[in-house]
Amino acid sequence: MSKKILVWFRNDLRLHDNEVLFEAISKSDSILPVYVVDHRLFDKTKYNTNKTGSIRAKFILESVTALRDSLKKIGGNLLILSGKPEDIIPQIANEYQISEVYHHREVASEETHISSLVENGLWKYRINLKHFIGHTLYNKEDLPFPVKDIPDAFNQFKKKVERDAIIKPCFVAPEKVNVAELSDWGNLPSLDALGIIDPEKDERSDFDFTGGEEEGLLHLQKVIDEMQLPPTSKRIIFASKLSAWLAMGCLSPRKVYWEIKKTEHIPHTKTMFNHVLLGLLWRDYFRFMFKKYGNTFFKPQGFSKDVHVVAENEGENLENWKNGTTGFPVVDAVMTELNKTGFISNMARQAAALCLIHNLKVNWIFGAAYFEERLIDYNPASNWGNWVQIAGLGNDQKAKTNYNFEKSIKIIDPKGDYVTYWAS
Ligand SMILES: Cc1cc2nc3c(=O)[nH]c(=O)nc-3n(C[C@H](O)[C@H](O)[C@H](O)COP(=O)(O)OP(=O)(O)OC[C@H]3O[C@@H](n4cnc5c(N)ncnc54)[C@H](O)[C@@H]3O)c2cc1C
Repeated sequence: MSKKILVWFRNDLRLHDNEVLFEAISKSDSILPVYVVDHRLFDKTKYNTNKTGSIRAKFILESVTALRDSLKKIGGNLLILSGKPEDIIPQIANEYQISEVYHHREVASEETHISSLVENGLWKYRINLKHFIGHTLYNKEDLPFPVKDIPDAFNQFKKKVERDAIIKPCFVAPEKVNVAELSDWGNLPSLDALGIIDPEKDERSDFDFTGGEEEGLLHLQKVIDEMQLPPTSKRIIFASKLSAWLAMGCLSPRKVYWEIKKTEHIPHTKTMFNHVLLGLLWRDYFRFMFKKYGNTFFKPQGFSKDVHVVAENEGENLENWKNGTTGFPVVDAVMTELNKTGFISNMARQAAALCLIHNLKVNWIFGAAYFEERLIDYNPASNWGNWVQIAGLGNDQKAKTNYNFEKSIKIIDPKGDYVTYWAS
């Protein structure tokens, strides 16, 4: 009997550096690539926010469509089904006589819970779910310590991994794929069918985030080209804007690393190379901290034992913050940019979070839930990890001294242009 492997795509919507796809192709006669549109992704949260806002929803659908197109170009296709993965994956694995199911392991509890349910469902048919690790720059098994001993302080983590761990080369993208024979590959629901209103592009937005691997790779090339231009003052708050493609796995962090490393010999690219590398290390750090501590990152008290006291006007302050009507001009501009585009810089995220927590006295958890809805690049570890740390309730207590509201406001808007732009 021929060996068929089902590749379950989730937040790894790419052909390049995709170990799951690479292994599945090399270990089988044919594969069945599957993406499940899980409607729970678009549910309401207990904080009265949406799990996924319209801007990210659009980006996700574009990324899935792009993956299907890429697979078609190499002789394959992508089966797209709607429902719960724990119902769908075991059922189709059984129907198509699949030998094994491959997927990338996630770290946040909702995602890992779904994997466990899929695993249980597959076991009923004696089919194995094989887990791969592919979302980080450094692989867990290449770290110089087990997960439980990963240093809580970011600086120590950085120092040790840079000294003792290796960044693996990328897996090559397949040039040809044999897929199972299917008469119906399914359709991707429209935003409308998901109950989501198509987001209108704001005329002030000067950047296009279009989902998909090809778009991500094109943008990475633009970043590399820009890195090589002679230095300008604009670069002081250089932001690569790679995060949305990284979050959906349209780009792998290793791909970003190895591509930007090619510019290392050009002297003035060093600062930006280090900037992007530092960001990727923060990203890895929060993912590993999630693996180490799990759900503590979702608790209002974070890592502290204190119980949160609700401020009298918490609800009103929260609404003003969300709507960009706090009376703090830069924060209001930041929230307007977030609401209109789904993206704000790291410094802007810090300023908005510091203002909500310290000036408006609202529990950080409501801010994190709102960012979860609004950010185009949302991923659980980066969002909840940064928020709890800014709130001073994280696992690295020294980190809270890194943040300063006044300083971040000055960096975001030294001359007042930013506020004027977003107030127009
Ligand atoms: C309150 C708050 C919430 C955040 N929520 C998210 C989120 O949901 N998703 C997300 O990807 N990032 C999040 N970040 C981190 C960071 O702000 C964004 O990754 C960054 O602004 C994206 O812009 P960029 O691609 O230009 O990053 P660059 O500065 O060019 O960095 C390169 C890459 O490194 C990663 N990175 C950079 N800084 C961080 C950081 N502090 N933590 C984790 N990863 C980092 C990103 O993947 C980024 O694309 C959050 C930060 C704060 C303060």
